[in-house]
Amino acid sequence: MTDLSFAALGLAEPLLRALQTRKFVTPTPIQADSIPPLLAGRDLLGIAQTGSGKTAAFSLPMLHHLGAQPVRPAPFTTRALILAPTRELALQIDETVRFLSANLRLRTVVIIGGASRFKQVEAMRRGADIVIGTPGRVCDLMNTRELNLAGVSCFVLDEADRMLDLGFIKDIRRVVAALPQKRQSCLFSATMPREVTSLAESLLREPVRVEIERKEETAPKIDQFVHHLPQSGKQSLLLSLLQDQGLSRVIVFTRTKHGANKVAAAIENAGHQVNAIHGNKSQSQREKALREFRTGRARVLVATDIAARGIDVTGVSHVVNFDLPAEPESYVHRIGRTGRAGAAGVAISFCDPEERGTLRVIERLLGGPITIVGDAPPPMQSQGQGKRPGAPGQARRRRFNGNQPRGMRSAA
Ligand code: AMP
Repeated sequence: MTDLSFAALGLAEPLLRALQTRKFVTPTPIQADSIPPLLAGRDLLGIAQTGSGKTAAFSLPMLHHLGAQPVRPAPFTTRALILAPTRELALQIDETVRFLSANLRLRTVVIIGGASRFKQVEAMRRGADIVIGTPGRVCDLMNTRELNLAGVSCFVLDEADRMLDLGFIKDIRRVVAALPQKRQSCLFSATMPREVTSLAESLLREPVRVEIERKEETAPKIDQFVHHLPQSGKQSLLLSLLQDQGLSRVIVFTRTKHGANKVAAAIENAGHQVNAIHGNKSQSQREKALREFRTGRARVLVATDIAARGIDVTGVSHVVNFDLPAEPESYVHRIGRTGRAGAAGVAISFCDPEERGTLRVIERLLGGPITIVGDAPPPMQSQGQGKRPGAPGQARRRRFNGNQPRGMRSAA
């Protein structure tokens, strides 16, 4: 596996040059397993999460096929369609497709909600080789005949499980009904609930199934820590943590939009480059925030859970949970923003006494306790002043010594 190269997979030369520019040397497991059957024209069912390299896995063969047949797309038509559940994910796919196709003459158009419809229609006037979109806006342009899918030879449905969670099934069925019978299709999903299986059956023809399990060497390595402190102390702890340059690229999660603004203002006042993204920010503000974070212009991004869906930035050194998430499952999504593509990452949570119940549910979900740093939590009143053996914080409290992870020195 380790000496397998992209060239050995049979990709066209312009794509290999683009991969070199980005220093993608070795295909990830999903890429190694998906690219050959997709180049051979097969349909594909990919069970893999974000972070596995699935975007390049489906984009490279698509670009290979499109590049091999240079034709001018007719106005309002496209030759390939990639559907993603969120705008952020669509924009990330667009970014990947653009760099991979840098040496090919292909037109990519992004069709997403929350951005100028007029500009998207103007872009479609010249026709597209690839449309990357979210289901709602794609259907909207189909309705007004400003997007015609009859010429699509390659279709990708990304993050199918999230699409269904977000209630897009009707839109997806409309899109699929408008596609020609003769086409190549891929469906990617992190999980395979029954609805996704039946969608895959209706969409794919004798697909190759590629499943990437979270193996030890590919699973992100995330060190997790929790600080017990009152809400009122969280801001100054965050600012003291940020003095450590080891926290080089940090996402701070807050529970509310107001909280995100407040925390971002405090970070800015302390002299750090920071942006906030949440539901009240416009699409262009969100794009700017993500761009500045991705390029390293801003060291810190403050986000709410909804706004953070689909954020994929490599090299996030630390995730700070300023507030614990209302939904314990969101904890796993949040910390997954660090430790991407096999890199090490650190997740630090701040836990006010009121959040202790949520922490316990999260720990149950994780299957074990999160390491405590700094002061142990004061005993819970309902637990007999912490005298019971195994009371939270007593048995598992740990103080760091010289082996502290980077970025934790000022924390203990
Ligand atoms: P994805 O799962 O497509 O969202 O990709 C996760 C991250 O891995 C992205 O930031 C990619 O830029 C990166 N990546 C994908 N494929 C490779 C590769 N073969 N080598 C190095 N990085 C990669």
